[in-house]
Amino acid sequence: MDYTKAEPVIFTAAGETDQEREENVEMVSGSPGFAPATVIVAEAIHKDADLTVLDFTPQQVNIRFRVDGLWHPGVPMDRQTGDYMLAVLKQLAGTDYRDRRSKQKGKFETEYVRQKQKFKIVSQGIPTGERVGLYLDYKRPPLETVEDLGMRKSMVPQLVDLMKMDSSGWFLVSAVPGEGYTSAWRGALDSCDRLVKDFFVIEEVKKVEPEVINIGSITFDSSKQETALTPLPQLILREPDVLAFPDLPDGKLLESLCDVSIKHDIPMYFRNPGKNAIDALLRMIALGLPQPKKFLDQLSGVLCMRLVRKLCTKCRIEYVPHPQLLQKLGLPQGRIERLYRPFIFKPGMLDENQNEIEPCSNCSGIGYKGRTGIFELLKMTEPLRAAAIKSPNLAALTALAKKNQHISLTQEASVVIAQGVTSVEELQRMLQS
Ligand SMILES: [Zn+2]
Repeated sequence: MDYTKAEPVIFTAAGETDQEREENVEMVSGSPGFAPATVIVAEAIHKDADLTVLDFTPQQVNIRFRVDGLWHPGVPMDRQTGDYMLAVLKQLAGTDYRDRRSKQKGKFETEYVRQKQKFKIVSQGIPTGERVGLYLDYKRPPLETVEDLGMRKSMVPQLVDLMKMDSSGWFLVSAVPGEGYTSAWRGALDSCDRLVKDFFVIEEVKKVEPEVINIGSITFDSSKQETALTPLPQLILREPDVLAFPDLPDGKLLESLCDVSIKHDIPMYFRNPGKNAIDALLRMIALGLPQPKKFLDQLSGVLCMRLVRKLCTKCRIEYVPHPQLLQKLGLPQGRIERLYRPFIFKPGMLDENQNEIEPCSNCSGIGYKGRTGIFELLKMTEPLRAAAIKSPNLAALTALAKKNQHISLTQEASVVIAQGVTSVEELQRMLQS
């Protein structure tokens, strides 16, 4: 990466008035830090990096970009260039460029390749120098439905069916925190018939999730010794159709909620971390329920969403899969003629004519662009309930679910691999992470 060759980035600096904003840009446009600042900003936009971290060490500035949840190293910058660049970024963001110790936050806007973006910059002195986070603020859609998130069409009515309970009953939504944990929860709540139902989400006052339209949020404050049970007596008077809890309390409290659900015939939805549906179920049992049977009888099903990166459609590489691989993925032999793998760019790569290869313009050489959700929907059955009480372990329950024609997370992912949306390598990474 050439930090001396400026990119055509137009900055709008922080400031109270247009004049102040213009002056802030003018002040830095002649600085030796201006070109590297444009290069970093352009690179972050180009890579779709929602976060770029600049680590200032005594020798140099280490740079990494977070793209679709994974870190990619950038080309390090010498310390002096880095110092000039940071002064420019801080000036644009309206923070004090001379202050290298305090935690400072600011914002600026950019226009690059006719697209407008907003950046937030957070800087903080650390013992070895300074750490700077550059957040790219994409305008994300306000709410993604489960289909937007990647659920196959035929699963949607099955999900709605399991979540639609006329009397008491429970449904569990799971994902890995930090990997679509909020999106999965919001998407699942949205997919039920919330417009005709009276919904309430009961959540800790400090952990309120972005609001789902038409769902009332009721908070409790654990610092005041309140729990998820505290608001319930008042709420029940309002005859809610569904109560939803994004954080599972301990086993004893969960049991109390179970009693409320049965006594008042109120369906309840819960959210809990899980790597797959059975893992989420086991984690719920592991909370220490006094009577697991009572709770399992209430549970209608478990939804788990995991995220995989999507192959870049511009540079993905086609290959003929080995029959053994298809068998391992559970894909029909003879029907899948080709699969795809990523083309991961490395500097110095040569093509067949010994010419240096340029990184792909669509994915910056990462090989992937964007993410999609893989959904697993587990329907609770009597044999599964009995097994979960008798031998609550992953291997036993997975084997039983398979026997009962349950479609596992891996099988769901295989379908997405067969469609060429993601790769076998990415599935393995997801399963191991
Ligand atoms: Zn590409």
